[in-house]
This record gives sequence, structure tokens and C-alpha cells, in this order.
Amino acid sequence: MSVSQQDSQESNTAATLLDRVKIVLVNTSDCRNIGSAARAMKTMGLSQLILVDPAEMPNGQAQALAAGATDVLANAKVVNTLAEAIEDCGLVVGTSARSRTLPWPMLEPRGCGEKMVSEASEYPVALVFGRESSGLTNEELQLCHFHVQIPANPDYSSLNLAMAVQTLSYEVRTSYLLAHDQNYQERSTGNGNLVAKTKSEDEELYPVVEETERFYQHFEKALKATGFIVENHPGLVMTKLRRLFNRARPDVKEVKMMRGIFASMERSSKEKS
Ligand code: SAH
Repeated sequence: MSVSQQDSQESNTAATLLDRVKIVLVNTSDCRNIGSAARAMKTMGLSQLILVDPAEMPNGQAQALAAGATDVLANAKVVNTLAEAIEDCGLVVGTSARSRTLPWPMLEPRGCGEKMVSEASEYPVALVFGRESSGLTNEELQLCHFHVQIPANPDYSSLNLAMAVQTLSYEVRTSYLLAHDQNYQERSTGNGNLVAKTKSEDEELYPVVEETERFYQHFEKALKATGFIVENHPGLVMTKLRRLFNRARPDVKEVKMMRGIFASMERSSKEKS
């Protein structure tokens, strides 16, 4: 194989893997940040930009800030809800500039990059960014498997949206290079750095968000059938169960087993009534 053939083969791997990393911007108020985010993404080899209900659609100013990344901007997908943006994703990481009242499994930016790259070979993965003024809501953060916080100055921890996109996209890129680019690996190991692991064959497959949502709907239905959840007074049971099962992160086989359990709960409640 010639060197140029080898190069293009490598960039094909990058294209397919990095094209499965979605950058989701929720309800952005200033479209100039969308342009800058597109530029940040393209410098790191990312291309999938999803805009959830942007307050301002990208205009000429956004294009100016996107510079050479107007293709990323032009291909951006616009959807109404975060749930819609991530329904085909098996891994969703929400970003936050500050700690929230609801404790959630956390990743460091580097670990986040490694996880994204390792799981992108199995299904699309998403990094979710919040509004300039108020970040992501608790409800939106609960749709994520993990949260990531850039360890910024605690007295001034809120980065500009596009700069947060840049920082985390950089981590995705370096993890990708450590796992798949021999030249980069040699340079990095020479400095005493560790080479990131690629996903091993026997690791489990996780369900995508759409399947997980069906799992929670079935769970709720079964708990209503048994009477554990009272229709008009559901309380916080489902929120707490979401947190528990999110932490456990059941794989596809475990979700299937749990759904079998829910079905048996529904059957026995029916027989009793
Ligand atoms: N005032 C908002 C901050 C919004 S900054 C708040 O208090 O939440 C806009 C977005 O940039 C955030 O929602 C997050 O997606 C990202 N961001 C900014 N600083 C960050 C940090 N230190 N770590 C992770 N994400 C950050």
C-alpha cells in the first residue's frame, strides 16, 4: 500500500469514528456562538452539529465566525427537543460549568474524550452543551449518562460556549489520535504518556437512548400496574429510579431481562385483579 493510500485510509477511519460524535447545543441564544462552535468542531475533525431549538438561527454573523467551517454550519440539524437530538445515541455526556444539586456520575474531560472515542465505534455518542445564560436544566442533565465539568478557576468557572466546545472536542480528538494514529502514539509514548485503550471485544453493548426511554416507560407502566406508583401522585420515584439505573448503566442484555421482569409484574397484577 502506498503512503498516500495509507493516509487516506487513516482519514477514513477518523471520518467514520469522529462523525459519530455529535455536538448538541441546547437553546443557544446568540447564533455567533453557534458559528464559533462550528469552527471549534472542524479544527478537531468533528462534523455533526445538532441545534436544539436555537433562539436565533445561524445568520451571516454566525457564518463569519464559522470561517472555513461553514459546511459544518450548513449541515447542522435543527430539532425541537434534546430527547430528539440524542435518541439514537448510546452514550450522552452533559456539560456543566457548576456543580448541581443532583449528584450524577462525573467524568473528567480526558476520561470523557476516551469514553466517547471508545464507544463511538458501537453507536453515535453526544456531548451536550447548555444555554449561555443558564446552562442545561436539571431535566436535560438527567437525560445524560454522565456529566463533565472543565476544571476551570473555581472563582470564574464559566467558559464561553464555543470555548467549552473547543476544549472538549480537543479531548475527543487527542483520545482518537492516541487510540488510532500511530504517528501520534509514537510521539506521545515518547513523552512518557499512556496510549489510550481501544474498546475490547468482550465489553458489553449499551442500549441507545430511545431503547432506554422505552425501558423507563415500561418500568413505570409495571409499577403502576402493581400499585407502587399511584397514577395521580407519582412523586419522585421515576427520577430516583432513573438515577439508580443510569448509575448502574445496564447493558442491552440486562435491559432485556429487566423488561421480562416488568412483563411478569404486569401479568401477575392482571391475574390478581
Ligand atoms: N451561566 C451558565 C453557564 C453557561 S456557559 C451556568 O451557570 O450554568 C454555556 C455552556 O458552556 C454551559 O452550559 C456548558 O455547556 C458550557 N460550559 C461553560 N463552562 C464550562 C465548564 N467549566 N465545564 C463544562 N462546560 C462548560
